[in-house]
Amino acid sequence: MTQTILIVGAGTTGTTAAILLARRGYKPVLIERSAKTNRKQHAPDWICRRGVELLGELGIDCAAKLGDAYDGLTFHSSDLTKTAQSAATTPPAWRIDYPQFTAHLHQLAREAGIEIVHSSPARRIELREEQVCVELEEGDPLEGSFLLLADGAGRTLCSPGGHPAVLSSVSPKTPGRWFATLELPAPSRGRDPRDGHLHWLLGLDRQQACCLWWWEGSTVIVSLFAAGTGDSVNKLLCATANKLVGAGLIASKDAIDPAAVMLRPAPARSALEIDSHVNKRCLVIGDAGGFIGEISGQGIFAGVWSARIAVDAVIAAASSVHPQDQLRDFSTTWRSDMADYLRPPNTDMHFLLPLIFSNRQMADRMAAAFWEGQNI
Ligand SMILES: Cc1cc2nc3c(=O)[nH]c(=O)nc-3n(C[C@H](O)[C@H](O)[C@H](O)COP(=O)(O)OP(=O)(O)OC[C@H]3O[C@@H](n4cnc5c(N)ncnc54)[C@H](O)[C@@H]3O)c2cc1C
Repeated sequence: MTQTILIVGAGTTGTTAAILLARRGYKPVLIERSAKTNRKQHAPDWICRRGVELLGELGIDCAAKLGDAYDGLTFHSSDLTKTAQSAATTPPAWRIDYPQFTAHLHQLAREAGIEIVHSSPARRIELREEQVCVELEEGDPLEGSFLLLADGAGRTLCSPGGHPAVLSSVSPKTPGRWFATLELPAPSRGRDPRDGHLHWLLGLDRQQACCLWWWEGSTVIVSLFAAGTGDSVNKLLCATANKLVGAGLIASKDAIDPAAVMLRPAPARSALEIDSHVNKRCLVIGDAGGFIGEISGQGIFAGVWSARIAVDAVIAAASSVHPQDQLRDFSTTWRSDMADYLRPPNTDMHFLLPLIFSNRQMADRMAAAFWEGQNI
């Protein structure tokens, strides 16, 4: 009989896992609390070349969903007096619209015959010896052989090591790591919107906060990935955006408004800090498992990568008399394959910063670390 694999969360990670499982003859059921991805929660995103290549290797064609390519990275010093550029001859990344991107994956999932249970949050999971069970806010509980938890950075269900997990939410007063994003409409005579570089403000604080901005048509997007409460990260983003406007690096026809900031929790801990992603018949993947690039906050590529490794582990477990042993291979494999991508630079960034502005090779190394997750 075909084994049912339950997946909580139909973001890029969960949906990729579902597509891969269906193609290999399993019956994934995707459980998603929202009717569709909330546009307000997601500013325009980008995906790196390795992410596009990985999706291609998995037979997931997303070429039609890629927006304009970036053609390089410009570094800015925190006092905004220095810049360094690293240009790329092949695109290191492309702009994407996340809701459109996930809608495309959902379409591919439906074409593969995958059941997507929309609009009903999973509110409790139970991990048993022989089976897993997911209770929904509405409707009958679902049962399956294994569970993949891909419920995102808010970790509404996931509490690694502390099951059974129940539905919860994260308030902006909670300390952790947050993404804050602001879209600013350019005034009619602003900076040239054809600027194809991603801009990175270095050394904003000692905790390696990452502030980026880039042009999206006639809008400039300013984004911050930083530690603190959601409220403090929002404040830091607004102060930084005002500083950029004051220095003439970006322009906006509207005043910077904290109420316009989109705020979302980033994974509270990186995958490397989490003791285990393996529970009884259950693996934690994507943002829920802290799989995001530590420097750039890129999570689409790392989420898809974790999904691929998890699917291999689940398939091995499904045909094993010791399924738990096979599931444990997930940890060994992602640590050996992905750790370099996930970990922060070995060197203290504050020693590197002056070099980036005086040494072109160092700027190129830093850019590679950012786009590709290479270490420095
Ligand atoms: C503002 C912002 C900008 C970002 N920009 C980039 C970028 O440019 N490039 C990049 O690579 N990464 C970016 N990231 C990170 C990237 O979006 C994530 O790492 C990536 O989407 C991981 O996908 P995921 O499927 O693991 O999580 P998500 O996309 O968050 O998906 C989780 C899904 O689970 C669902 N869910 C949660 N709880 C439940 C429940 N109890 N029951 C049912 N469903 C549930 C949610 O509704 C959601 O659809 C950004 C993140 C944010 C917040």
